[in-house]
Amino acid sequence: MNLQPTIGLEIHVQLDTRTKMFCACELSFGEPPNTRTCPVCLGLPGALPVLNAQSIHFGLMIGHALGCELAPQSIFHRKNYFYPDLPKGFQISQYDAPLCRGGSLGDVRIDRVHLEEDAAKLNHVGVSGRIHGAGSSIVDFNRGGTPLVEVVTEPDLHDAEEARVWLALLAATMRQLGVSDVRMAEGSLRCDANVSLAPAGSGELGVKTELKNMNSFSFVKRGIEAEIARQRALLESGAEVVQQTLHFDPRSGNLTSLRSKEEAHDYRYFPEPDLVPIAIDEEMVQRAREAVGELPATRIARYEHLGLSAEHAHQFAFRPALGSFFEAVLSAADGASPRELATWTAHVAAALGERDPDASALEPAALAALVALVGAGRVAAGPARTVVLARLLSQGGDPARIVEQEGVGALDDDAGLADAVAAAIAEHPDAAERLRAGNAKAIGPIVGHVMRATKGRADGGEVTRLVHERLGL
Ligand code: ADP
Ligand code: ZN
Ligand code: MG
Repeated sequence: MNLQPTIGLEIHVQLDTRTKMFCACELSFGEPPNTRTCPVCLGLPGALPVLNAQSIHFGLMIGHALGCELAPQSIFHRKNYFYPDLPKGFQISQYDAPLCRGGSLGDVRIDRVHLEEDAAKLNHVGVSGRIHGAGSSIVDFNRGGTPLVEVVTEPDLHDAEEARVWLALLAATMRQLGVSDVRMAEGSLRCDANVSLAPAGSGELGVKTELKNMNSFSFVKRGIEAEIARQRALLESGAEVVQQTLHFDPRSGNLTSLRSKEEAHDYRYFPEPDLVPIAIDEEMVQRAREAVGELPATRIARYEHLGLSAEHAHQFAFRPALGSFFEAVLSAADGASPRELATWTAHVAAALGERDPDASALEPAALAALVALVGAGRVAAGPARTVVLARLLSQGGDPARIVEQEGVGALDDDAGLADAVAAAIAEHPDAAERLRAGNAKAIGPIVGHVMRATKGRADGGEVTRLVHERLGL
């Protein structure tokens, strides 16, 4: 049976607002437990929520970035359920009138983007869950009431790696917008994946299961892979997939059932009576539009159009600091091709690892000048990278002067290069013979000899030209 997987994602992103969604408590970043709370986010009776305007602004920015339709009026609903991390007994969320609908990112369509509040955090201590167990669970309400957006995709993804790459694009987009720090390990971006299998070309979707709360890009990929394999084995043996919610344990690779369709929650949604509808006006829409800079997907397209490799285009688009450095090099350069400048920017990235270029001593104009020196044959690419760039990164300075100080300037023909070529030909008479006989590859050992003799300072093209000249070719 040729079964095609289908995947739809639901992503929760914590918004980086100053205060919580419905109260004046500041967001918490690892403060002592229960120090950022008030009657509203503790759910005390009689406390009234007041909507955070910045969360709407961020929601509208996301809506613009994903090309969504922005609802002129949207409302909040109460999503009722009981859990110790939810003191009110309901979560304030959006239901059938979300802030944004439709849109797309890359070739994945967006179903909706809505706002809601995060729950508090449960910390399980010791062995919990049994009546006589030694452990207990304690609640930290600092996280309760943190603003979230939930992005729901249409079921447009078809394999685990594609889902991982798309999620990384969404995360890069959120980071670039500055609406969230999107650190999966810290829970500021959490992903649920809906997975189903159906005969390829049938035009129908199979019964789906939902993998809850995966907190790393690689767990998302591995969880989806495991679930596709499990469903495939079931369907190929003639069994059926049961609709349920699953947990993927990245350590064991096991999938366990959290609840089945029969146990599914009935949230008894109803409109939140303590909040007025969100009515956005043209000024809010405009302000959000202006706050959206150039997004990774647009950057990738623009860089590829400039002639960069797909790899460099992605690398610079996903790391805004690297992208802006490249742009600065590009505007400082005079004549070098963007592709060449990108290659050198990638050398910088490789040398710095996790660090951004602004954290080094290298100025964009200095890199542009170095690439120009290489282009003009004043220094060979090898020593330009290993000697000059290395020094620029640690100490900064003027590349032309460093070339001089380090004595790595390219040799020109009248300054001994012709002699070095003559010596290399004399050392490799066989190679010279084969080269004369028309075997172009035979030049290798001769050029290699010149490069060793000049410690890499000779320009490869010039050496080749001199060898040919000397052999009368
Ligand atoms: P539910 O009613 O279970 O909430 P929705 O239709 O609202 O389902 O979709 C929730 C998520 O599941 C969306 O991301 C959607 O793309 C995805 N989804 C829906 N049906 C399927 C399916 N058959 N296979 C894979 N994903 C699906
Ligand atoms: Zn509060
Ligand atoms: Mg749904």
